Parts: sequence; C-alpha cells; structure tokens
Amino acid sequence: MTVIPSNDFSFYDQVLDTSIMVGAIPQIYRWNSGPVPLATYFAMARGAQGKAHEVSCGHALHGHDAAHGVPALEMTKWFDTNYHYMVPELTKDQQFTLGSRKPIEEYEEAKALGYQTRPVLVGPVTFLKLAKSKDAGFNPLSLLDRLLPVYIEVLRELAYRGVEWVQIDEPCLVLDLDIVAQQALHHAYTEIARAVPQLKIMLATYFGGLGANRHTALALPVAGLHLDLVRAPEQIDELSGFPGDRALSLGIIDGRNIWRADLSRLLDQLEPVIAKLGEHRVQIAPSCSLLHVPIDLALETGLEPEIKSWLAFSVQKLEELTTLGAALARGRGAVEVSLKASDQAAASRRASPRIHDAKVAARVAGIDEAMRFRSSIFAERATVQRERFNLPAFPTTTIGSFPQTADVRNARSAHARGALTDEAYKLYLQNQTARAVRWQENIGLDVLVHGEFERNDMVQYFGEQLAGFAFTSHGWVQSYGSRYVRPPVLFGDVSRPKPMTVEWWQYAQSLTKKPMKAMLTGPVTILNWSFVRDDIARSEACRQIALAIRDEVADLEAAGAGMIQIDEAALREGLPLRKSEWQAYLDWAVEAFRLCSSGVRDETQIHTHMCYSEFNDIIGAIGAMDADVISIETSRSKMELLDAFRDYRYPNEIGPGVYDIHSPRVPDIEEMTALLKLARMRLSDTQIWINPDCGLKTRKWEEVRPALANMVAAARELRALA
Ligand code: GLN
Ligand code: ZN
Repeated sequence: MTVIPSNDFSFYDQVLDTSIMVGAIPQIYRWNSGPVPLATYFAMARGAQGKAHEVSCGHALHGHDAAHGVPALEMTKWFDTNYHYMVPELTKDQQFTLGSRKPIEEYEEAKALGYQTRPVLVGPVTFLKLAKSKDAGFNPLSLLDRLLPVYIEVLRELAYRGVEWVQIDEPCLVLDLDIVAQQALHHAYTEIARAVPQLKIMLATYFGGLGANRHTALALPVAGLHLDLVRAPEQIDELSGFPGDRALSLGIIDGRNIWRADLSRLLDQLEPVIAKLGEHRVQIAPSCSLLHVPIDLALETGLEPEIKSWLAFSVQKLEELTTLGAALARGRGAVEVSLKASDQAAASRRASPRIHDAKVAARVAGIDEAMRFRSSIFAERATVQRERFNLPAFPTTTIGSFPQTADVRNARSAHARGALTDEAYKLYLQNQTARAVRWQENIGLDVLVHGEFERNDMVQYFGEQLAGFAFTSHGWVQSYGSRYVRPPVLFGDVSRPKPMTVEWWQYAQSLTKKPMKAMLTGPVTILNWSFVRDDIARSEACRQIALAIRDEVADLEAAGAGMIQIDEAALREGLPLRKSEWQAYLDWAVEAFRLCSSGVRDETQIHTHMCYSEFNDIIGAIGAMDADVISIETSRSKMELLDAFRDYRYPNEIGPGVYDIHSPRVPDIEEMTALLKLARMRLSDTQIWINPDCGLKTRKWEEVRPALANMVAAARELRALA
C-alpha cells in the first residue's frame, strides 16, 4: 500500500496557507469573511503597492492605505531549514473562521483523478507556536480554544468526504517545550479526537527527536506517529515502548540532504524492528517533506558520473522508498538489482580517492593549540594596528559588495555562455572595480573594498575554487516564494589548490593608498549553506574548510593585505533546535573561525561580519571569536542589540550598521548621527566603526551613492562632537 499526500502544494507557503485556512488575516489586508481572494493571499506574501483596495473585497478604504499599500507579513526560517515561512500575525482578541477550503478541494481534486490521498495540515499547536503576537504580554497558544473549531470543521468535512487518514504536522514536538505547550498539544488532540473520532491522525514530527516530549507525544490520542529517524536515529531503539495500537511511520530516507541511502544497511536495521512491531503497524517514509531537496537527479548531466552515483534527489528518494518497501514485503531477492546498485554506490563512496585526501587528514591531525590563537591579546594587537593604519576616530567602511547591477549579471552570464572571452570579462570586472574604488576615495571612506563584482554568490564563489565541492545545474531548493537557491554539494575532503581572491585584492589595492579590506567567506557559513557530506561529523568538515580559508588568509597577508574580513553571515542560523546542543555547536564553530583567522601577525587586522540582530544568547561565542573588528546589523533595532555587547563588556572593535540595506530608502545624515549617538551610549569611542548593516549587492547605485555619502558626513559630524 502506498500513501500519497495531498494539500502539499502551495502557491507561496504552507504556513501562509494555514493562516488563510483559519482566517488569520491581519486587519491591514482588509478581509472580513468568505473565501480569501488570491490577491489578498499574495498581498500577505509579498506586500501590495498602493492599492490595498484591490486586495480587499470591496470594503470602504481609507486614503492612507490607498497611498501606501500594504507590507508583506514577516518571514522567518522554518525550524533549522533554509526555507522561510510567512509568520502568522495574531492579536489578543483574534477570531478564527474558515477562510479557505484548500485541503478539501485538493483532496477532491486528487480523488477525481482516482487517487485516495492523505491530506497534510500544519498542526494547530505548531501554527500558534510559530505565530507572532501583535499585542504585548500574551501567548498565542492561549488562542487554541478559538482556533480548534476551524480545524475541527475542516477535519469533519474531510472525514465526511471519505478521508480515512490525515497527516497533521507538529514539528514543534522536537523543540524544548514548556508545560504550556505540552498541555496545548494534549488539549488540541483530545478535542480533535472527541469531535472527529472516525478520522485517523498521523501526527508527524521531524527535524529531530521527541526527546523530553516523548511522554507527551505518546499520550496523545492519535492513530499514528511519524518519527525522523535520520536526525534522531536513536529513536529506532525506543519503538518497542510505543503503545501497541499506534501506527508508526518511520522517516528513514533523508529529506534534508542529497545523499543516496545505503539500502542494505537500512534493511539490516528495519527488518528486526518491523518483525517485532508487526508489519501492519509500520509505514516507511522520507524523514520530512521533500521540499528541502532538489527534484530530479536525472537532470544533472554535468556532474561527474561517480559523484552523481552517490546522490539522490526527491524522485530518487521515492524510488529508494519503493525499493525498501518491496524488499520488506517480498524479500530482498525481489529487488536484487536495485540493492546491488545501492551497495556499489555506498562502497564507492567509502573508498573513493575523490573523497579521501590523505594530505587533508594529516593537516587536520596536525592542528595544535597555537593555530587557534592569535599570538597577542586584542589590546596589544590594537596598539600596533592603530599605529599601522592611523585611521581617524569612527572609521568608515562598507561590508564588501557593491550593487550587482543587471549590467554586471549580464556580463557574467555572457561570459558563462562563452559570448564574452575571459580577457574581456576580466577587463570588464576590473573597470567596475576601479570605478568603485575611485568613487569610494572621492566620497571619503576610510577603509575601502573592491566591491565583489566577480562573485556570483558569497559561498558558491569559494566552493567553485575549493577541492571537495561539486555544483549542480538544476539542484534548486526553495528558499521562499519564488526564490530558490542551489546549494553547493560538499562531498569530499576540502583543500585549496590555489589562491582564490589574492589577485583581485592586489588589483584593487594597486589603485589606492587607502587600506583595501580583503573579503572572504568563513568556514561556518560555507558549511551551513551547503549540502554537507554525512560520512564525517559536520565539525570535521568545517575544520577542513577552516584550514583552506586559513591558507587564503596567509596568502593575502603575504601579498600585503592589512585588513582581512571573514564573513560569518550564517553562524547563528546553524544553532541546533535544542538548547542543550547549542554549546557543542558554538564550540566547534568558534574553533573553526579561530583556526582560519589566527595565523596572522599582530598588525594584520581581522574583521568579521554577521548580518542579524540577535546576539544576546551567543555573545560569549562572538567574544571568543576574537575578531579585531566585527560589523553587525543594528539599524532597525535602533542599536538596542548593542546592549548585549555592553553588558558582556565586549572589548574588541564594532561597526554597528547605521544603514538598513534591506530597504531602498536613503537614510539622511541626522538619522545616522542619531543612531551613532545611541551607539556611543553603549560603547567607547575607540571601539566604534561606521558601516552599513550588510553588503550592498541588492541595492541600486542611485540609493547607495547618497546613502554612503550621508554616512561619511555623519562620521564627520561625530568626530566634530567627540
Ligand atoms: N561581504 C558580503 C557582502 O558584502 C557579506 C554578505 C552577507 O553578510 N550576507 O555582500
Ligand atoms: Zn551581511
């Protein structure tokens, strides 16, 4: 028997679909009742410009909204994935009512085509837990009793129309849950079971193990439970303790990574477990939704055949499931050929010289304490660095990239197509760089950057030059809405065959006497934005990348670079879902950063950059990274997050962002000076640098020019005051 899900299609995002289903539509989108129009849906997803009346269904309109349009809902990462969902926005007196019959319609659509499906819903408790409250001091979970009737209405109708099983996703069960959330789960599923007793619920958990929520999960009156045995393989040993009337869906094919499964090994694990539990109780499944992996490996004609033989995308993962299912039902002999192919791929991956590089292993083994520490403490380094660079107070700089205009992107794709020769492309990039350098000099920035025109992406650019990485041509994964990314595939031991950025830095520095900051992406960020090999620990793979970046840092220093920035934009998002695992992650992440950055002399200034705004819970790790200068995102938080740095007595230098680069708006001088005054209340003057929140690649030159000119003017005002 095969279970096919429905209601797993979305125009934009499944959490947004859920908000629509339960009629949780913030007032600004002007919806009262009835089916929510698609225009309202997209206004919530992407915002609408100056025509809020078109997204409403004919209600009176205030001139204010007509003029200003409506913003999109906030967006944030779905658990520890790189998929972003639209954050439900709820008020204290939120009412819920059916706003869409999508689950019912899609069930009927499949049925008309001859498929009996298992509809999938985001569970009520996870939905509320992910929601944001518009009003202070109330917990969205307190709205559960108002929300449940809408879920029950949907479930009743599904049951009425012939649905036997629904899948309800409660991935919140893999988080640390307080007693309020545990009780909410208990209450929700007790109510649902009472209201729709004939419906069987497969309660799905994924991205981790149940951990301390195990008791809560097992006590829920549901017919089945789905477990992620890829992320939490230890759960397989605990299955015999599960209530005997519960169906079990075993998530054994990795829905988060692109490696082919070792089917024989899986069968070795599954056969005894299933024999014990009884075949009728067990289903096998991907660990989670296949949203997080690309669609079809068959499209990859450019990959090395050997590397390709180690991979499985969604289509291949479903084939693996089918093979496993057949082997379990009819014996391994029934799928001999497929199993053999899987065995071969596994053996080749274990032994391939493409993966295993003895030199890398030797270098990793040779890492010693000294390699993880700068030779002097910050205070001593700061003294020599001040002498060397002789910068004014409140030095100004930027984060690295300048606008990646259509022109720049066209040149890149012309070069990739072969329509532009290597020389012509290089000349083009040099001209862009030279113009950017001249312009920075003209407006009076203190520390310059080359502009990153030659980079397609801050991770891909490095991955393409490092041994151990492969790139797909169609391996797209949804990041949000219509935005997809193609993560590099980190398949083997990492090393750096030759310098990656030195020439560009040298060219840029040759154009100016001002310091030219070199620009690198850090090991943790490269790791967190790639599909990472699963045959060694992530920390180990990260250490290898760190050594490769360390080589680049050494070459930059030898070429004369005095300032080297190592971006760790993705350090925070790599935090595990459970707090108890944070410290172990932070330890190896910090170690990797130190490993790549500590091989330099005192007078070489190491910068780092992190573009997010929550530091409170990781400030100790930030301090331990010991970068000479860190630039961070602060403009939207009005410098409040500097409190964390102040309270921690963060000793090194900091550039709190004064220009919100996510918005096309050009901040004026007063606004930036006001922000800087707030920064001065929290930091000492000698610590402060002045820079935007992040790189400027997504902005237009028309925005960047006046904004940075204002930023330099703000710095001058501040110097006059100080
Ligand atoms: N140096 C990079 C840039 O300026 C940093 C980008 C990032 O932090 N996301 O584009
Ligand atoms: Zn950034």
